[in-house]
Amino acid sequence: MKKQPRKIWHYTPALPIRQAPYFERPFSLLESLKYLFSVWQPLSQRFLLLLISIALWIWFTPDIERAVNFQWDWMLEIGLRNLIIVLTVAGGLHLYLYTFRKQGDDERFDPRPLAKNSNIFHFNNQVWDNVVWTLAGSVPIGTLFECLALWGYANGYITIISFAEHPIWFITLLLVIPVWSGFHFYWQHRLLHTRWLYKSVHFWHHKNVNTGPWSGHAMHPLEHVILYSDLLIYFLIASHPIHVIFNAMLHTIAGPTSHCGFERVKFGKNRGIVLGDFMHQLHHRFIDCNYGSYETPWDKIFGSFHDGTPEGDAYINARRREIYAKRNAPTWKTDAP
Ligand SMILES: [Zn+2]
Ligand SMILES: [Zn+2]
Repeated sequence: MKKQPRKIWHYTPALPIRQAPYFERPFSLLESLKYLFSVWQPLSQRFLLLLISIALWIWFTPDIERAVNFQWDWMLEIGLRNLIIVLTVAGGLHLYLYTFRKQGDDERFDPRPLAKNSNIFHFNNQVWDNVVWTLAGSVPIGTLFECLALWGYANGYITIISFAEHPIWFITLLLVIPVWSGFHFYWQHRLLHTRWLYKSVHFWHHKNVNTGPWSGHAMHPLEHVILYSDLLIYFLIASHPIHVIFNAMLHTIAGPTSHCGFERVKFGKNRGIVLGDFMHQLHHRFIDCNYGSYETPWDKIFGSFHDGTPEGDAYINARRREIYAKRNAPTWKTDAP
């Protein structure tokens, strides 16, 4: 009798997972517009991130005039604001999903508990390891990149535009930012998977085979620097600080949400918001696949796309064997079947 493969997921979205249709051939404008609407609909994470970014700019960001010189007061204000955001989002999701288990294992990808008494993690504890590197690395480094951009606006190194004068460019840029951020994420991530950088830097993030909200920023500080460096693009293009904040929040907020380990965070009987990212969850489990986002074509082009199906498991495992054979490494470990 043929041996059944071990079931490795408790829950998955509809399989095979599909990426944005923007890059499919033949190109379908209708499909692309439908996809664009789905990721920007009013209850989507992306739309909420935009609303949060606008609110942050209006109420929780220092006036540009104060940012002419790097000074502790205004920089600490941004830092404090980011600290509160991370504590609320990552801490809140962790309490809701893992401490109080408000939705049990409903829509949870991998039901195994987060690691305790595991010497692979700092402090022998996955959550504390994740919390420390988030607060000590991500919050100050993400803040510095935001401060750099605000200083750029204050000194005229970044051209500032307003919505009233340039509404079309303003909105177009908002639509493009997630695609830019995904493009940057793929290439920096691919770089982090080169042998030396993986072993010395990126491995810190990959200790998290199963992920929770705090895992999103559980990284070596050098990886935080590389991750947030997509904000440097604003020194080259005209923009508004809302664009910069929105781009930063795609990391600061969407890092914890995308690693929360659940497809949807539910409220009420059947309502909820899609926060989890199964494509990236597959990356944590199988490592050598899905380096990019749903809106990057590169995984498909370079043969590293895992669609979540058992056939995808077999394909990526065969690919991994090939990669490691080429590297001439005698051992490689994964808990994937
Ligand atoms: Zn990786
Ligand atoms: Zn990750």
